[in-house]
Amino acid sequence: MKQYVPIIGMEVHVELKTDSKMFCSCPNNPNIDTPNKNICEVCLAHPGTLPVPNKKAIAWTVMVGKALNCHILEFSKFDRKHYFYPDLPKGYQISQYEEPIAEHGFIELDFVGENPIRDTAKIGITRAHLEEDTARLNHGEDGSTLVDFNRSGVPLVEIVTDPDFKSALEAKTYCQELRNIVRYLGVSDADMEKGQMRCEANISVQEVGSFEIIDGVVKPLNGIKLNNKVELKNLNSFKAVERGIDFEIKRQTAMIEKGETWVQQTRGWDDNKQETVMQRTKENAADYRYFPDPDIPPFHPLKIAGIISLPELPSQKRLRFREEYYLSYSDAKILTDSKELSYFTEAVMSDLVEWLDSMPESENKAENLPQKISRLAGSWITSKLLGILKEKNMDITDVKFSPENFAELVALIYNNKVNGTNALKILLIMVGLDVDKDPTHILEEKGWGQVSDSGQIETLVDDVISNYPDQVAQVKAGKDTVIKFLIGMVMKASEGSADPKAVEEILRKKLV
Ligand SMILES: [Zn+2]
Repeated sequence: MKQYVPIIGMEVHVELKTDSKMFCSCPNNPNIDTPNKNICEVCLAHPGTLPVPNKKAIAWTVMVGKALNCHILEFSKFDRKHYFYPDLPKGYQISQYEEPIAEHGFIELDFVGENPIRDTAKIGITRAHLEEDTARLNHGEDGSTLVDFNRSGVPLVEIVTDPDFKSALEAKTYCQELRNIVRYLGVSDADMEKGQMRCEANISVQEVGSFEIIDGVVKPLNGIKLNNKVELKNLNSFKAVERGIDFEIKRQTAMIEKGETWVQQTRGWDDNKQETVMQRTKENAADYRYFPDPDIPPFHPLKIAGIISLPELPSQKRLRFREEYYLSYSDAKILTDSKELSYFTEAVMSDLVEWLDSMPESENKAENLPQKISRLAGSWITSKLLGILKEKNMDITDVKFSPENFAELVALIYNNKVNGTNALKILLIMVGLDVDKDPTHILEEKGWGQVSDSGQIETLVDDVISNYPDQVAQVKAGKDTVIKFLIGMVMKASEGSADPKAVEEILRKKLV
């Protein structure tokens, strides 16, 4: 039986959050409610107007290029890309064709998911170029279309990859990493729902052994004619990226198996129907009649950008979190997913380190103490705190408590001053409060401190033993797992305050 593989490349557009638009001084705020507010003669393409490039947008594109390990060209220019559509007042878009600002880069990715084809990969970045966004078309129910030019001329970076992805999961992982990179760089909010980041995929399924990829270019082998590529649009979420590509791989494979072929085309992902639908057959690049924009002189991107220093990027932060805080790969990935969450985590960790340093020498020397505490803190953020926030539809930036007080809660748990159940209740209270309240105070107010006092626990254990004679008999007969039930009953009687370790110890002593 013949085997098939997909060839997948990605094209991602990212809106830059500069103060003004790309070629005029209109405010860059495409999502305001009032249509056609941020407009002028330039972004409406009135005759006789001249575009003036936004230096910050060029500098930020250089920054994106550097973060993606690209070569920054010494000679770059803007070109006119011609096509006629109502969202394009000039009849052409100012873009970059032959001399983009950045090219020949790469990004290293780790793939974590169900059965990834490979664990890591280096994906080639073909180019990153700068262009202007188009106006927005609002289609009315009555068949009319209204044009809103607030978005017309907003700076847009297009990042194109080599066809290096082997699966939908890999493409999705790339988009997530790219979003985090531009957010870390501070050049875009990259919110897909708001259209600040738009992903498109090029997919073609081929027979195994029918092609090779050299320097990002697909070459057919043995004179085989390769299947046409399909450009997939309307991928408005990471889930849509993954599902859309998966669907397209299955659809094309089924066609090949039936002996069918297809023409090069653009398809859209229909989120309701969960399928791709034909939009149009694709124009070739030549149809755009590119030529250099005579109104804008060529430029040297690095001279305009000046000195660029990159901040710590998500992949570097992930590595450092693993090394410094002894975190698992998945915890480090979650905690560095947003800049804000990573700052919170770092603040919690540094408070815990201070707390460790302030401990008496004798206690501080316990084996692997920093590892244990960092891991405990990491898992309380990823599993408990983020779980509560997700449930309440909140973000880490919405909480009013300080990293110091979260660190204190972790210290209370570590020192067995509170058990897991009550610590979670305290955390819930902290998340719900409008003020930054000390967890120790909440603990004392509620009386949720861990009861390790053996006298109190012993009374509870005695009650449970006399109330559950059957289970007691089973434990005595050697069915050791039943002891979990008895421990649970004691915990319940103590309203979660007893130290489970002490409970088990006392129970076992009494049941011998
Ligand atoms: Zn304008």
